[in-house]
Amino acid sequence: MHSRVHSLIHSQVHSRVQSRLPSLSVPKRTESEILIPVVPDEVLLNSNLIQHLALNAKDAALLYGVLMRTKEDPNSSETINYAPFTLFPSPVPTSLFNQAFEVQQDFNLLVDKISMDSEFLKNSLASTAEADEFTARLFNIYTQVLDEGIAQSITLGVNRSDYMFDKRPKLTATLKQVEINTIAASFAGLAARVPEVHRHVMNVWGKPDEAAKILSNKAVKGICKGIARAWHLYGSPDAVVLFLVEKISRNIFDQRCLEMELWKKNVQVIRRQMYEIYQRGTLDDNKKLFVDGIEVAVAYFRTGYSPDDYTCDECWIARLMIERSMAIKCPNIATHLVGTKKIQQELVREGVLEKFLPDDPAAVERIRETFVGLYSIDEGPDGDEIIAKALADPESYVLKPQREGGGNNIFGEELRQVLGGIKDKALRSAFILMDRIKPQVVKNYLLQSGAAVKLSECVVELGVFGVYIRNCNRLSMNLSAGHLLRTKRTEFADGGVAAGVAVLDTPYLI
Ligand code: ADP
Ligand code: MG
Repeated sequence: MHSRVHSLIHSQVHSRVQSRLPSLSVPKRTESEILIPVVPDEVLLNSNLIQHLALNAKDAALLYGVLMRTKEDPNSSETINYAPFTLFPSPVPTSLFNQAFEVQQDFNLLVDKISMDSEFLKNSLASTAEADEFTARLFNIYTQVLDEGIAQSITLGVNRSDYMFDKRPKLTATLKQVEINTIAASFAGLAARVPEVHRHVMNVWGKPDEAAKILSNKAVKGICKGIARAWHLYGSPDAVVLFLVEKISRNIFDQRCLEMELWKKNVQVIRRQMYEIYQRGTLDDNKKLFVDGIEVAVAYFRTGYSPDDYTCDECWIARLMIERSMAIKCPNIATHLVGTKKIQQELVREGVLEKFLPDDPAAVERIRETFVGLYSIDEGPDGDEIIAKALADPESYVLKPQREGGGNNIFGEELRQVLGGIKDKALRSAFILMDRIKPQVVKNYLLQSGAAVKLSECVVELGVFGVYIRNCNRLSMNLSAGHLLRTKRTEFADGGVAAGVAVLDTPYLI
């Protein structure tokens, strides 16, 4: 069996020097695939200048708190490094940036409505749950809490919808959604600190006017507004916000940005791992959740989206305990399931968006504009047909399992092999196919600890954070809450910042 399929099954079981420098030309779109970078080629190719700017940039990153723990010592803050980031901000078309912000509240509403439609979730996820053990276990928790009755009518959503700027089939790029993350959507904290670093690089380069144009990022404020409001609605001043965290927390500083903002608002925060909830968590008769004797008002997940986060059955017991509780979950299990690749694929079917947003055709239109083709490959003639197309033209599709966190998707020749291997097996329902976006290419320098600074052709991915609160049947908060720009070399088809592939960036609107 192909090793990727094998590992999937296996994981299921275990479950910028002041001088006369060229002026910053407003970048123009060209006929070519490559978008002209914010910085002209004379600068990009001046290696002394680049080295000078890179040194300044790295120190600025350390000073402004764009930080990550090291690979070597991932659970200690004694030795730390800058989180990987681009030397220059990357150009982002203003219209696409605005479009992504405008559609975010529609997505918030949509995600929330789907999370309340148990029939839709059950029907859409049935075949996937049969083929994928991880989805099945999440789904079981969902059905169990549904049967028992949902203890908490208030829901907090913090999601991030991710997009690429697609060059097919037109010359002008369009905004196309890659996915929406409904659990543990990360990097708001660090992303909010990168603008200061890029402004400093532009100042050192001698471009203060341009530096001033770099957008600030209010992601942390937005997310914490949501968490703090949820905490307040819970109504118990001594209760805390529980951050559920991984065993190995390399990205802890991103989380700390949120924690510190909450403490400023006089909201107390505790951090625990899932296993610690199992060991020291209790539900009282009123389903109030206590950990180490401390009442939990809001359970905010920064773990729990990958089979690796459930190292033992006790972690699953802990997840169930949290879901059963009165604590306000971010997200609840239903909303977690809405973020699966399978649900994303089901939304593309005719009439589905209209079903969830019947009174808002404009919202349906805004959402649909961001979609590319997504296809079920469940057994049957439709599945067979799209599998045959993908096998004949693997460069035009992406094969996706029900996994999050980067590095799981299958492209190109590997897609052909894996798809060929599963096409006659029930396991195929564990995957979906998606049209492959052919993103705009831009040049930049990626600053990664220990790596040489070299000019690279890159693609960017824009994420917009959404925050909402539902209190019974009404959204009492619905925000577009800031953004994340991540950039990676074109040679990597997949992989995020945490995976060591993508780096943090800021948009320079053109
Ligand atoms: P994950 O949940 O692992 O983050 P994503 O759907 O976001 O999964 O995919 C991970 C990465 O794979 C993306 O950041 C992007 O680089 C690439 N990718 C995903 N879908 C597509 C697509 N349809 N076209 C081109 N690249 C894609
Ligand atoms: Mg992603």
